[in-house]
Amino acid sequence: MESLEEFRARARSWLADVGPLEVPADPDARFDVLRRWQRTLFDAGWVGLAWSREAGGSGLTHAHQLVFVEELVRARAPQPVGLIGLEVVGPSIDRYGTDEQRRELLPRLLSGDDIWCQGFSEPDAGSDLASLRTRAVADGADLLVTGQKIWTSWAHKAQWCALLVRTDPSVRKQAGISYLLVDMASPGITARPIRQMTGDQEFCEVFLDEVRVPRRNLLGAENEGWAIATHTLGSERGAATLRRRVELEVALEDAVDALRSRGTLGHRARAAVGRAHVAMRVLDAQTRRTTERLLADAGPTPVDSVDKLVLNEVEQTVFAEIAALLGPLRAVPGSRPAGLGSGRWAHEHLYSRAASIYGGSSQIQRTIVAERLLGLPRG
Ligand SMILES: Cc1cc2nc3c(=O)[nH]c(=O)nc-3n(C[C@H](O)[C@H](O)[C@H](O)COP(=O)(O)OP(=O)(O)OC[C@H]3O[C@@H](n4cnc5c(N)ncnc54)[C@H](O)[C@@H]3O)c2cc1C
Repeated sequence: MESLEEFRARARSWLADVGPLEVPADPDARFDVLRRWQRTLFDAGWVGLAWSREAGGSGLTHAHQLVFVEELVRARAPQPVGLIGLEVVGPSIDRYGTDEQRRELLPRLLSGDDIWCQGFSEPDAGSDLASLRTRAVADGADLLVTGQKIWTSWAHKAQWCALLVRTDPSVRKQAGISYLLVDMASPGITARPIRQMTGDQEFCEVFLDEVRVPRRNLLGAENEGWAIATHTLGSERGAATLRRRVELEVALEDAVDALRSRGTLGHRARAAVGRAHVAMRVLDAQTRRTTERLLADAGPTPVDSVDKLVLNEVEQTVFAEIAALLGPLRAVPGSRPAGLGSGRWAHEHLYSRAASIYGGSSQIQRTIVAERLLGLPRG
């Protein structure tokens, strides 16, 4: 197998050859460009590096994957657009899917031909996810799904959805949930985008009205979806932390460079940069353990919740410090190119507020740490 040093050199030189990618400010145009970018990365063999060849991946290791993420971010190249498929839902399909599901769904997920969304949260079931009410009832060989999801990122663009549904309302909440893989082109699905404070319309309300889903699209057994959902949420917390660490480091470097080039790195600014650096070192220390767990293929654990808590706090600290440093220079999101980075910093600052909510809020992560790591009595 290719050594990590050789692999890093090859990745660096490939990224240098393809050069910088122009990413439009308009969200729809941006989505299309990033989808084509995923295809380019996939065709060149850079997507799904640690996934098996059978699933469409390269059969390398998680260490190769980490090296590539680092090189991609350092080259200031964007991430592929299908991150929910790649980091969140895909690992669960790979682990719990039938051979047929893995063969049919995973290569298209990796290439970006299919974009995935995650239909977990509902208007009355976010933190208390197990209370979800979207129901699926048997109808011959199919299930008929009716209900509502919310905050479903990229539902308006997705071809597939990983959907949690209630298949048995008569048992304990967690025991009656199934995990369905739903074709978003199925009749009866309406995805209505919601505008966020960044100005983007990244997530949606999703309405399901007697949507017919074949039973073969169950991931795992009927009524055993809760354990798989836990796996999905754990993957999201672990993988995102490692990628985000490098992204934050590069963001801080870029902000400091931008200020230095304008000669505005005075005493107050230096103190803010110092605080952001301290926060980054805390994240470094935490992610060293995350990397060890990932390389050992340990799978999701409650420790992922510690990662998520540290990451949230560091992300919000770093972008708040950058925003304070740049002041009026940071420009509003979507505006072109009135301020440093064409509104990049304002966008990042606003988006960082979501970090302590998505993937399970910070309060919920603290409860997981208290109960499952520290063994404190349940509240
Ligand atoms: C940018 C973004 C993208 C998202 N993408 C998706 C997606 O693709 N798919 C998806 O399914 N969901 C998605 N979500 C939804 C996200 O998972 C939920 O917002 C989150 O789980 C919180 O649920 P809620 O919004 O219903 O808040 P609630 O559960 O109503 O919580 C409201 C507040 O009360 C606190 N709280 C609730 N219960 C407790 C408790 N027991 N103890 C202490 N405090 C508590 C919470 O921490 C929070 O501060 C996304 C959210 C965001 C912000």
